[in-house]
Amino acid sequence: MNALHIKQDFPLLRSSSVVYLDSAATAQKPDAVIDAISNFYRTSNAPVHRGIYALAEQATQLYEDARKAVADFINAESQEIVFTSGTTDSINMVAYAWAADTLKEGDEIVLPESEHHANLLVWQQLAHRNKLVINYVKLTDDFKLDLNDFLQKITHKTKLVTFALSSHIFGNYPQEYIRAIIAKAHEVGAKILCDAAQAVGHMKIDMQLSGIDFLAFSGHKIFGPTGIGVLYVNKKNFSAMGVYRIGGGMVQSAQLGCTQLGCAQLSGEQLSCPEWKEMPYRLEAGTPPIAQAIGLHAALSYFKEKIVYQELAEHEDTLTKHLLERLKKHDDIVIMQPRYEQPVHNHLVSFYSKKFHAHDIAAWLSQYNVAVRAGHHCAQPIHQRLGIVASVRVSFHAYTTMHDIDMLCHALDQLYK
Ligand code: PLP
Repeated sequence: MNALHIKQDFPLLRSSSVVYLDSAATAQKPDAVIDAISNFYRTSNAPVHRGIYALAEQATQLYEDARKAVADFINAESQEIVFTSGTTDSINMVAYAWAADTLKEGDEIVLPESEHHANLLVWQQLAHRNKLVINYVKLTDDFKLDLNDFLQKITHKTKLVTFALSSHIFGNYPQEYIRAIIAKAHEVGAKILCDAAQAVGHMKIDMQLSGIDFLAFSGHKIFGPTGIGVLYVNKKNFSAMGVYRIGGGMVQSAQLGCTQLGCAQLSGEQLSCPEWKEMPYRLEAGTPPIAQAIGLHAALSYFKEKIVYQELAEHEDTLTKHLLERLKKHDDIVIMQPRYEQPVHNHLVSFYSKKFHAHDIAAWLSQYNVAVRAGHHCAQPIHQRLGIVASVRVSFHAYTTMHDIDMLCHALDQLYK
């Protein structure tokens, strides 16, 4: 994989001198994505699933083609793909369309203490509302996911196990860990929700093999536009899915006189109540993000054409090793990267300095046109537990070159002069 060639496909990167090392927050967009969105608005813009005219049918076809492309990308079926506005929205959808009516007082949820707020706060809110118990899995002091703790916390009371397939601060977990967690969750009959926001652009995900019930990710982290995300729902869970946002496009029949949301589904008799559409449409109320879905389709096509996961992993490994070598020069820098017994590759490196605040480091780097992320990365509890207020995260993608890492390290070296 030639990162320099790939970079040429990204207009922002080829036309500016920015050293973009914040791809874990949002990835840059190739021409193919920008053109697909622009072409859609120029040639095919119309509502989907509503109009009985050729242009609307064309837009509907493009929107459904995008769903099929997402399904193919993760080896799922089209009906298992719900378009959302992003990972956050997808996780909220699981919480309110499935968990809110399924999980009852005393039921337990297991999740790592290092989760992104998107996969933490929603469960805390629901736990409060439904009187659920959340068991937090520890991170070891050297930033590893504590597998034993995880497995011990999954018991017969556990109804949901949820975790990011790749941490937005600490990077990837060994595949063996993920397999062990999923196997234990299956053993006790718990459902599994995986946050794939960081994973999907960096590792192959195969829903036929994974054993995962729900998978959430955002289009913008895999070269797609903002405003589009995906919730995969394994079809064996369809009958347990209620609704989330209510409105047009997700209902089969509606009448005045209904007082209880979803009561037609619950009783099967109260015909004056709305009858929701089948999955995935019941979860797509309102006008969906049509152009964004088409942009995501273009992003996945681009990805398939240009990127081989294994080569990307090797490339990111090389960048990581180089960066770690350079960071080690500075005694005050604590690298927050776990060292597992099994090899794992990473697309990001987080660190903090005992001398400089993370924000000051990022602001310093910005003077050299180097863009990194600094802060608590929407994961305040784990920063508090580690006794730090903020950290710096350097993250890569296929277009990141060794030169980018050198520019970062050079700018950092100047700070220490
Ligand atoms: N989960 C993880 C692991 C993330 O890294 C992010 C974003 O950085 C999110 C969830 C939230 O994604 P979004 O803001 O696209 O909804």
